[in-house]
Amino acid sequence: MSDCLFCKIIKGDIPCRKLYEDDEVLAFHDINPVAPVHFMLIPKRHLKSLAEADESHQALLGRLMVLLPKLAKEQGLDHGFRTVINTGRGGGQEVFHLHIHVIGGGNLPPMVRRD
Ligand code: 5GP
Ligand code: ZN
Repeated sequence: MSDCLFCKIIKGDIPCRKLYEDDEVLAFHDINPVAPVHFMLIPKRHLKSLAEADESHQALLGRLMVLLPKLAKEQGLDHGFRTVINTGRGGGQEVFHLHIHVIGGGNLPPMVRRD
C-alpha cells in the first residue's frame, strides 16, 4: 500500500525508533507516547484493520500475540501492560494498517471512564 504510513515505515521511507524486526513483524515506539513505554507491533503484510482479518491471517496474528509479551518484558514492563487495537473510525483508529499498541510503565488509569 503505497499511501499507507506504516507501510512506508516498514519500507524505511519514514524513520522510526525500531525495537524489533523479523520477516513478518515490526515493532517501533509510538511517536506520541501516552505512557513511559508505548510501542506498536505491526504485521509487515498490509492489513487495514482487525475488521478485515480472516483465516489467512490466523498464524500471523498468533505470532504477534506470542511475541508481544516478550517485547513488553524487554521494555521493562514486568508489572503488566495494556494492549489496545483500535479498529475502524468508530474504534478511534487513525492509521489504517493494523497495529497493536503496547502501553505501560507507571500506573495506567482505568481504560474506560464511567462518568
Ligand atoms: P491509532 O489511533 O490508529 O490506533 O494509532 C495510531 C498511532 O500511530 C498513534 O498513537 C500515533 O501517535 C502513531 N503515529 C502516527 N504517526 C506516526 C509516525 O510517523 N511514527 C510513529 N512512530 N508513530 C506514529
Ligand atoms: Zn500498510
